Amino acid sequence: MALMPLDQALQRLLQQADQLGPTPVETLAAEAALGRILASPLIAEQTLPPWPNSAMDGYAVRSAEVVPGQPLPVSQKVFAGQMPAALQPGSCARIFTGAPLPEGADAVEMQENVQLDAEGRVLFAQAIPAGRFVRPAGEEAQPGQLKLEAGVRLGPVELAQAASLGVTQLQVHRPLRVAVLSTGDELVEPGQPLQPGQIYNSNRALMIHWLRRMGCEVLDAGCLPDDPQQIRQQLAALEDIDLLLSSGGVSVGEADYLGQLLREEGEVNFWRLALKPGKPMTFGRYRGMSFIGLPGNPVSTLVTMTILARPWILRRMGMRDVAPLCFPVPVDFAISQAGSRREFLRVGWRHGRAQLYDNQCSGILSSAAWADGLLELPEGSTCQPGDLLNFYPFSELLA
Ligand code: AMP
Ligand code: MG
Repeated sequence: MALMPLDQALQRLLQQADQLGPTPVETLAAEAALGRILASPLIAEQTLPPWPNSAMDGYAVRSAEVVPGQPLPVSQKVFAGQMPAALQPGSCARIFTGAPLPEGADAVEMQENVQLDAEGRVLFAQAIPAGRFVRPAGEEAQPGQLKLEAGVRLGPVELAQAASLGVTQLQVHRPLRVAVLSTGDELVEPGQPLQPGQIYNSNRALMIHWLRRMGCEVLDAGCLPDDPQQIRQQLAALEDIDLLLSSGGVSVGEADYLGQLLREEGEVNFWRLALKPGKPMTFGRYRGMSFIGLPGNPVSTLVTMTILARPWILRRMGMRDVAPLCFPVPVDFAISQAGSRREFLRVGWRHGRAQLYDNQCSGILSSAAWADGLLELPEGSTCQPGDLLNFYPFSELLA
């Protein structure tokens, strides 16, 4: 069976997400909206700044009245938070950053560029162009202006922008409800003693913490043995779930029962990807919920979760532009043998180049802990030192 190219898989994921549509909209206090996706655009209702104001600590002037060497008396002092009187002709105003410009003034000279004479008058060293160090009214926002589009994720900057407009309530999408399931007879939770043949379950922590950061509501559906009956029972018990995100059991091994069950009893959209690591990732619907079955090797889990599950999850939570930030960077290594699958390598950003972690096996979680992100090697390609390849920082993928 031919492997599906990554781009096609991504297209199918988004197609399904769009068919299901985004989660419902709710109104939240802006205080509580961190990480949510905005459901309706944020439109300015006021002019910001409301009046022209000073960008410097200094002296507000009528620029035409400033002649170098001819002192101007100070007729008033304006602090931020005060409204000044009109500027008396033939004078200047002491002014501080953020204070409204007196009517009639059209420029500010910074205090470092002036001298005071014995009578406290201000001597200017140079002529002053109109507009110097003035922040015009409305340069930040005008009534009716679109400030944030629907579909953006609300981070600290977006919430600061809402605050700057005096907004206290926001329309946002409700979090996606995701059930997390680990499968594998060999898995034991940290805190339990390890018996021969057992390993600790690390994917559970990887998936749960990541989903929480993504703004999802997480239901821990536990860790199941490789037993088709128990897996079926556990899946049947899930209620009110938008997504089942699982790890392990979707490959072609004899004990990979989860994948078998999904293929036999669900609708599988795809499950064989031209991707390394992550080939067996399985996507579709089962009993009225969507599922994304991630392969169990920890790096495969990480790559498929961030490259494939992430856009689906964000789109379902109402985000418009779900493609992760990536940019070309020079590499400091060679790969001489081309593969037939798209590969995501763990690389560190060292001295302005991408450096390869020496062990790229999909079971080596340390490669990801060491790395700063994933480097994309297109199918069929090799690379030489200095070549440019797309880099996906973990600060984007895991945030
Ligand atoms: P699977 O996808 O079930 O074939 O598992 C592939 C590899 O990943 C095996 O070596 C498993 O032991 C390992 N693995 C599966 N699930 C986990 C997990 N939750 N935590 C750590 N390793 C896992
Ligand atoms: Mg397994």
